[in-house]
This record gives sequence, C-alpha cells and structure tokens, in this order.
Amino acid sequence: MLIVQKYGGSSVADPECIKRVARRVVDLKKQGHDMVVVVSAMGDTTDELIDLVKEITDDPPEREMDMLLSTGEQVSIALLAMAIKALGEKVISLNGAQVGIVTDNIHTKAKIIDIHTERLKAELNAGNIVVVAGFQGITMKSDITTLGRGGSDTSAVALAAALRADTCEIYTDVDGVYTADPRIVPNARKLDVISFDEMLELAHLGAAVLHPRSVELAKLYKVPLHVRSSFNHNLGTVLKEVEDMENLQVVTGVAHDLNVAKIGLFDVPDEPGVAMNIFKALAEANINVDVIVQSAMRNNVNDIAFTIAHNELKKTLAVVEGIQDSVGFKGYTYDENVSKVSIVGAGMASNYGVAADMFEALAEENINIEMITTSDIKISCIIKASDTEKAVNALHKKFSLDDKNVDCLVSA
Ligand code: ASP
Ligand code: MG
Repeated sequence: MLIVQKYGGSSVADPECIKRVARRVVDLKKQGHDMVVVVSAMGDTTDELIDLVKEITDDPPEREMDMLLSTGEQVSIALLAMAIKALGEKVISLNGAQVGIVTDNIHTKAKIIDIHTERLKAELNAGNIVVVAGFQGITMKSDITTLGRGGSDTSAVALAAALRADTCEIYTDVDGVYTADPRIVPNARKLDVISFDEMLELAHLGAAVLHPRSVELAKLYKVPLHVRSSFNHNLGTVLKEVEDMENLQVVTGVAHDLNVAKIGLFDVPDEPGVAMNIFKALAEANINVDVIVQSAMRNNVNDIAFTIAHNELKKTLAVVEGIQDSVGFKGYTYDENVSKVSIVGAGMASNYGVAADMFEALAEENINIEMITTSDIKISCIIKASDTEKAVNALHKKFSLDDKNVDCLVSA
C-alpha cells in the first residue's frame, strides 16, 4: 500500500514525540508499505513566529510572513528524517518546493494548483520514506507560499490525491472528529464516521480538526481519509460519501468560531450594482466575506451587514473606507466581540423544525441572535462572543449529541 500520513504540531511537539512518530512510520515501512509523511511545525512554533512578528511590526508584508512561517515545517521534517534514519531506514526530507507543490500567489492563504510528483515517485522507488513539509508551496515565480493556518492537512490530502494513495491518515492529539469541541463540551462524543459534506461544513465553521480545503480535495479526488490520534492506536473518524453512510443524523455536530468580526454599513443607496461594488472591492482585496444580511429598504436606503475573519478586520476596514464615497453609504460600524455557532447534519435537509429547535435552545439561554445563515445541511447564528460556550453546550444538549442512542436518525 501507499500510505500518506500527516502529523500535526502536537504530534511532533518535542524530541520524544518525534521519535514516537518515527517508530510508527518505520513499523509500517517494515510491513512493506510505501510511506509519505507530511508534518507540521513543532508544537506552537507557528504561533511563536507570529508573536515574534508582532514585536517588529503590526503590518508585515504577506510574502515575508510566508518566508518566516514556512521555516517551522522545515525544522520538523529535518528532525523527523534524522529520527527515522537513526532507526535504520532510508529516508529523505523535502520542503514544499522540492516536493513540487505549486500554488497561486495569494500569500498566507495560497491554493495548490499543481503537484509535480516526479521527484517524490523517484524517491519512493529508491526505497525512501519521504518526509514532506506541510503547509507550504512555491509559486511559478519561485516565491514561498503558505496555505493558511492548519494547511498541512491540505498538503497531505493533495499529495495523497496526486499519488493515488491507498489511504491518507491525519494524526492529531484527539481521537478523531467530535460532536463539539471537547474542551468546551465535556461530554462531546467521538464520531466513528462523518460525511465529507458534513465535515466540510464543520471545518469551515471553526472545527479546527481538519483544514477545510483538505476536505474539499478529499471529496473531489475520493481520497480515503482517516482522522486519528498519534498517541494511541484507536480507530478515529473515517470520512465517507453520504451515499455510503448507513444513517444520517439530523444534527451531527456543533461548531463554533471566535475568529469573526461583524461590519455594518448604514444608509446604503438601494440601487442596482451597489452590493456588487461593495463585495467586488472586498474580493479584490482577497477578503473572504461570510454571512451577509441586508435590511429592508426605507427611504431608498438600507443597511448591509457582513462578517469576515477577525484577523482580516484591519484590511477590511481600509477597503470599506476606500469605497465609502464612491458607493455612497453614510457610515459604518464594526463589532469584534462576536462569534458564530453552527449546527451541521446531513439529515437536516429532509427534516422540519430544526431551525426552530436551534433558536429555542438559544432563547432558553437568553442568547440574542444577531445574524442567521443556512444551507441544506447547516444553520449558523452570529451571537455575542461571551455567549459562545453557553450556546454550544445548549445546542449539544438540545440535539442529544452526548447520547449514543440518539433517536433523531433518518435513513440515508
Ligand atoms: N504549522 C501551521 C499552523 O500551525 C500549519 C499546520 O499546522 O497545519 O497553522
Ligand atoms: Mg498547527
């Protein structure tokens, strides 16, 4: 078998962890498998590098951010390769450029556009375990890029797709995908299976266990994906197509995201093309807009509110100020103290009353809903950040997620 594994920062946090990973990899190699191992930076290295930047400037050039952050993964691939070599196996480490991961040039959140697998295949054919730096790639112009926080998952899935690997295992410090963040909901439960679609929603909605792009790629290229712990040999969570699942839950999981900021534009002229001008300007600045709400018209004006990632607030406000005169809105406000709580479930599409149940759970806790957005399989509410923990627990309880024998199963 050709196995692609990815080990997250906590799995390679210190020399002992790195040696543990090396033994795991070597065991599989000895059983005759071809091994490609993608690693993240050790522990909190990436955060520490970002803290370092804050002491230099609060407006770092994004190209230089990538130059800096990509070093974290370069440390861990070299150390892991040394640990594997010390166990007597043939091994080589490769950074993003060497392994042929080509990306677009959107620094700090680049997308993979191509993978040149010749070198990788040659190294595997030569009997090497190949250790690859996750999270990074290179543009056509040879600039180093990174794929967004948590992007090593995406490196692993993309490599598994390009190599048509038999399996892609994502190793982390928890046993798999949970019904909610166990740090917030103590009786959250590990899911044995989850559909790609549900996982994609959860990942986008703030469940940090998988990078959203990795799930998209896994679904697109049918990569068998297994999320599990590097600290034990338990089975984790397997991702499947909805069609291959025995049961669909109305609600599979609750997610929350604190990296949210809300912007309100008021007295926006109610004319064709206005929304286009606002959101085009944001798109041109590479800002991802999430929830959008437009109020009812009064006196030929209305209000438009939208949310973005909190870490893009500064950039967004600059764009908003820049277009205020040309678009002709009176003013704007912003709120940094908001969060998004969401429920996700593939069975939601065929069930009534799920939204009402969600709003009831929040109302019972006296939590005010500021914005709402839905898709076939998810409902999200923007609320006050300080209400997040209460909201997530209330929703987890409302949809009986801590109970194994949930009675809200519908057949797929
Ligand atoms: N080291 C990067 C981060 O912390 C990438 C990753 O862990 O996947 O975001
Ligand atoms: Mg990490």
